[in-house]
Amino acid sequence: MIEKKHLDNFEKIVGSENIYSDKAHLIAYSYDATREHFEPDAVLFPRHEQDVSDILKYCNEHRIVIVPRGAGSGFTGGALPSSGGIVLAMEKHMNKILEIDMQNMVAIVQPGVINMELQRAVEAVGLFYPPDPASQEYSTIGGNVSENAGGMRAAKYGITKDYVMAMRAVLPNGDVIKAGKRTIKDVAGYNITGILIASEGTLAVTTEVTLKLISKPKLTKTAMGIFDSVHQAMEAVYKTMASGVTPVAMEFLDNLTIRAVEQTFHKGLPVDAGAILVTDVDGNMDDDLDFQLETIERVFRENGCSDFKIAQTKAEAADLWFARRNASPSLSVYGSKKLNEDVTVPRSALPALLERFYAIAEKYNVKIPCFGHTGDGNVHTNVMVDGKDPEQVKIAYQAIEEVFQATIDLGGTLSGEHGIGLAKAPYMHMAFTDEEMNLFKSIKKAFDPNNILNPAKMGLD
Ligand SMILES: Cc1cc2nc3c(=O)[nH]c(=O)nc-3n(C[C@H](O)[C@H](O)[C@H](O)COP(=O)(O)OP(=O)(O)OC[C@H]3O[C@@H](n4cnc5c(N)ncnc54)[C@H](O)[C@@H]3O)c2cc1C
Repeated sequence: MIEKKHLDNFEKIVGSENIYSDKAHLIAYSYDATREHFEPDAVLFPRHEQDVSDILKYCNEHRIVIVPRGAGSGFTGGALPSSGGIVLAMEKHMNKILEIDMQNMVAIVQPGVINMELQRAVEAVGLFYPPDPASQEYSTIGGNVSENAGGMRAAKYGITKDYVMAMRAVLPNGDVIKAGKRTIKDVAGYNITGILIASEGTLAVTTEVTLKLISKPKLTKTAMGIFDSVHQAMEAVYKTMASGVTPVAMEFLDNLTIRAVEQTFHKGLPVDAGAILVTDVDGNMDDDLDFQLETIERVFRENGCSDFKIAQTKAEAADLWFARRNASPSLSVYGSKKLNEDVTVPRSALPALLERFYAIAEKYNVKIPCFGHTGDGNVHTNVMVDGKDPEQVKIAYQAIEEVFQATIDLGGTLSGEHGIGLAKAPYMHMAFTDEEMNLFKSIKKAFDPNNILNPAKMGLD
């Protein structure tokens, strides 16, 4: 419980209208998308960078824990105040697009800007910000940078880190730093921007982000391939990506996922298929899109695709995407508890990865439907069990540990996009040596010697 004198001092910094300490608001800010909850002692809404600096300086001097927060849509508990303290919420004031620099194709935004608002603003002037997490309607750029969010378009356009050119941030002692430049090239000094990206609010509080923009392609087409076997579909993924064309998206659903969507929505999906791949291509010339789709169809068919459909209208494209977009919520047909991971491997390891997952499912007698962004090697692996049965939940966690081990064995990573936070902290030792973990801890200590900023995350404590 925080002392009243601290709340009074925070009020002096941000004003009484920008501090919550009543029960209802503390509960509201105790959640993110993990469904875990930890109540903060207070929630502060900084009005500008100077407020952030004053708050952090005060917290550092008085050893008060502080947890930055965007929209609270994180899947791993990064924005949860698991050690109590203050939640620093950027959504209320620090949510402005400051500049769209058309000449240098750059946007400068505050951290609370919602991803989709930025996309719409830059597309209105013919530019394009590609990172499109499925949470794009509500997640913030600050959260996206801190988790290095990715989306469906990552196969061609990459992820958040590929667009962050520079940042302003406040260190835990209140010092303001600038990292990076509005330049394509910048090799002066350590890459502090690179260290802050995906640091999950453990090193500094982001107050401004400079993002690279590109030209918006004029045309998009969608196609779907149906495969008898998931193994062949996974072979088709990496062979397509190495075929000389680069689809915008290359998403997959396995048989269990197809069945779950069909059971929920009755769309006439091929319930006996081993897998479906949905793909988008883009460009500025019809001939170019046709060439890309011909190449993809050829590679798909060489790898066991029995049916290949190209959408002729926007409505048909939406239909082809329907199953993928509704995959996640449909999985509840298999159980009330879903352990949803976002492991990622080099694309050529996808066939072996899926085989390992299905062997784990058989060993533990659980269902592990998989879907996801296979164009970038990212598979959403969902261990589904009855949440009310403690034995089943225990088994699910054993299965998850093997899912991580299989991923690491195949050269992959614990997380492609959701980060580590609290949820995956216990597994960090599987992916990193003691020496590597010690290096992470040294970096944390260099930025935050008093461990006030988002402690107990990323397995660093
Ligand atoms: C339905 C759904 C779909 C999703 N789909 C995707 C997807 O396709 N791809 C993907 O990558 N993720 C996805 N996510 C996860 C989540 O939306 C992303 O991790 C997103 O980037 C989090 O943004 P946020 O604004 O909600 O951040 P929060 O959840 O509020 O915070 C996330 C982390 O960022 C830190 N943080 C926030 N703001 C700052 C700041 N200004 N300075 C320093 N640290 C800060 C927090 O401390 C925390 O550690 C999905 C989530 C949901 C619920």
